[in-house]
Parts: sequence; C-alpha cells; structure tokens
Amino acid sequence: MALVEISDVHKSFGALEVLKGVSLDIEKGEIVTIIGKSGSGKSTLLRCINALETINQGEIRFEGQPVSTTMPNLRTMRQKVGIVFQAFNLFAHMTIERNITLAPVLTGKVAKSEARPLALDVLERVGLADKIDAYPEQLSGGQQQRAAIARCLAMAPHLMLFDEVTSALDPELVGEVLRVMEEMARQGMTMVLVTHEMNFARNVATKLIFMHQGRVWEQGNPGELFDNPQTPELKSFIGAAA
Ligand code: ADP
Ligand code: MG
Repeated sequence: MALVEISDVHKSFGALEVLKGVSLDIEKGEIVTIIGKSGSGKSTLLRCINALETINQGEIRFEGQPVSTTMPNLRTMRQKVGIVFQAFNLFAHMTIERNITLAPVLTGKVAKSEARPLALDVLERVGLADKIDAYPEQLSGGQQQRAAIARCLAMAPHLMLFDEVTSALDPELVGEVLRVMEEMARQGMTMVLVTHEMNFARNVATKLIFMHQGRVWEQGNPGELFDNPQTPELKSFIGAAA
C-alpha cells in the first residue's frame, strides 16, 4: 500500500474544473516534485491531500484511510501531514519556541516540560537553535521558512507538503531552505513539493510530476523526463524554465 493513493480526483471551483482526474501514488520515502505552469492545479492538489479542499469525485487515501474534510480522524491525519506554504505563516506575536511547541503541547504530543527540548531538537535540524527565543520579525525570510519547517517537524509528520516555499525568498536565501529540505529527504522523510527549483527537481526528487491543465501530463524519473520529455507541453515548460 502506498502512503498516499490518489485516484481519479476531480476538483472544481464553481464552473471551473481545476483537477480533471488526477491519479498518483506516493510511496513511503519518495520525494515527489510537482512542476507545471501557474494555474495548472498544483496547489489545489496539495491542498486536497490534507483535506484543505473537498474533492468532487475520486478518492484520496492516506495510510489506507479515505481523506475528506468530514473524515472521522481529520485532526489526527493533519497532525501526520505537515504543510509549508510560500508565505511565511509563523505567528508574529509568539517566539519561535512558542510557534513550534504550541501544537505539540495542545495535542498532548509532549508535556510542557519537554516542549523546549523538543523545540531545540527540531531547530537544530534546520540550523536555527540560536533563534529559539527570537520573534519571527527578527528572522530573515529564509530563517522564517526554516522555522516553519521545524514547526512541522515537531509533530513528527509522516508526510511533508511544500508549496513553493522558496518562491517568495530573495535569491541568496533560497539555498539554505533547499539544503534543509534535502537533508530531510536524505533522512527518509516522504515529501511532495511544488517547486520552480529545477535543480532540486532533477537531483533530489525520486519522482517528477508535470501537471498541465488539471491533469498529470507526464510523470516518472526526473532525469529521464528532463532529458527526454514526451510531450510538447513539457518540452516547452522545461525550455522556458531553463
Ligand atoms: P497552481 O498552484 O498550479 O498555480 P492552483 O491550484 O492554485 O494552481 O489553481 C488552479 C486554478 O484554480 C486557478 O485557475 C485558480 O485561479 C483556481 N482556484 C484555486 N483556488 C481557488 C479558489 N479557492 N476559488 C476559486 N478558484 C480557485
Ligand atoms: Mg500554486
């Protein structure tokens, strides 16, 4: 059984069908990158995976359980699926420690006395242990994204979703965030990333998904797809991105 099984998923916003029958399996330990033009449905697909959107047709299973906004274990599922967005979404009025420990303490994952050691542990993994008492505004964009990743890690997720997490960063800050994600990949985290970072897609991903007009247009081994795109759409997308 794959960690995530996506079968013939359709999603519309009003009259606009954004996902037109997407099927995709994500195995444990896979690093899946999703590329494609703006508007092709990449973010919507990610949001469907952890039930931030209701699907109209088809099925998504996470660890064998059908995912939906009305599923019985919605909260438990969301605790196992971390998501990081393009916009830094740390709570501005809380320290980095509090940002990280809020959910684990509220959900009873750790006792209050273990909260700070947990925050230190995950901050060490993203190279930010010295920022534990800082407020988000005191951090650079790259550091804020790393803190947002650390906050997800504190919940010990089984799956991490990243939606263009480096797109809003100044170019010189992109690398530090990519390196953190690369290290997570090395340590075996299952990850799905929407990204414009073609080097990451080619060199770190185990699977590449090219979305076009709400469909998985091509998927497969990243090196093979980059070197030998089968459709004019992927060929032109890669050309434009190069
Ligand atoms: P991508 O991430 O590939 O750029 P999205 O999944 O964000 O694409 O969006 C796909 C299409 O769905 C776009 O046309 C977008 O305008 C539309 N869309 C996304 N979210 C909503 C929403 N909440 N309501 C209406 N339309 C939406
Ligand atoms: Mg998007």
